[in-house]
Amino acid sequence: SLTIGIVGLPNVGKSTLFNALTKNDVLAANYPFATIEPNVGVVGVPDPRLEKLAEIFGSAKIIPATVSFVDIAGIVKGASEGQGLGNKFLANIRESDAICQVIRVFNDPDVVHVDGVVSPKADMETINTELILADLQTIEKVLPRLQKETRLSKDLAKANAATLDAVLAAQEVLNSGRTIYAAGLDPAPLKELHLLTAKPFLYVFNMDSGELGDEALKAELRALVAPSEAIFLDAKIESELIELDEDEALELLQSTGQEESGLNLLARVGFATLGLQTYLTAGPKEARAWTIHKGDTAPEAAGVIHSDFQRGFIKAEVVAFDDLVAAGSMAEAKARGQVRIEGKDYVMRDGDVVEFRFNV
Ligand code: GDP
Repeated sequence: SLTIGIVGLPNVGKSTLFNALTKNDVLAANYPFATIEPNVGVVGVPDPRLEKLAEIFGSAKIIPATVSFVDIAGIVKGASEGQGLGNKFLANIRESDAICQVIRVFNDPDVVHVDGVVSPKADMETINTELILADLQTIEKVLPRLQKETRLSKDLAKANAATLDAVLAAQEVLNSGRTIYAAGLDPAPLKELHLLTAKPFLYVFNMDSGELGDEALKAELRALVAPSEAIFLDAKIESELIELDEDEALELLQSTGQEESGLNLLARVGFATLGLQTYLTAGPKEARAWTIHKGDTAPEAAGVIHSDFQRGFIKAEVVAFDDLVAAGSMAEAKARGQVRIEGKDYVMRDGDVVEFRFNV
């Protein structure tokens, strides 16, 4: 499954955030594997639609989609030169499908900052510089071979053309100090290079709870990382929230001017950043969200439940979540003509409630 690597300078609140994420285990009952490795956390993606479905179908339980976070320790200046934990750090990032950078905004004289001063912009640049340097090294290794092949063989020149163009464009972007993701380059022709900055990025700004309502500050920080998503939270508060019961948690959240916990937001935004979406199934046993890629067809979606479902796919009965809720029951939705029969070319939409028909 796809994972999001959490990175950041020391003492920015990564462990605090990661621990809160993994302890927020609405999942423990359904996912006994939720803590496979100490640095991997499987987190539920909160989806209020599932509660609604469970009501309509009288489902005994709710199973949300999940997203995995990996706590990647050890970025330091010079990581790209293999200093300290550098090599392990870069290898861990290479294995992640998206990068979540935690950046310190909070002021606390008791928590030392590695560079002596709290500066979100400088921190972001420190980390991005290491990733950019690592990518430039990768390119410098690959480029001579591509160029040589292109000189020596017409066939290879043709086969390499798209890659070579993309690599040269990437090199230019990186040399200008930008990440490939932020520059909006198409990652497809660069795939084989496994470049770090071609992965989707998202940013978590760890703030004092008093700053969470500071819209001007947040706008400034958002602009710093655009077009990546920015999430604002107080990791310390988040780690307190998970210890409280629902009412108390809501009260604490609202006292900081938030409607949703930062952890929930992070799970949802992380899931979307990975290019994932869900479709829903429901019955007396369970109401469940299944994870697919944006653009997946009905048989591919069925294959997520069981490979037999994909192989033997006949058709899908699909109703949009909103239509189902408005109708109040599957029978009524059918009576209203809102349950569609879709074939093997149907591209799934977010919020489809589905029942598959298949041969075994
Ligand atoms: P890491 O090195 O990035 O994993 O940072 P930690 O999660 O270990 O946090 C470093 C220190 O900062 C710990 O003492 C935390 O309690 C503290 N800390 C983390 N988040 C916050 C925050 O939002 N506000 C304040 N004041 N302290 C925090």
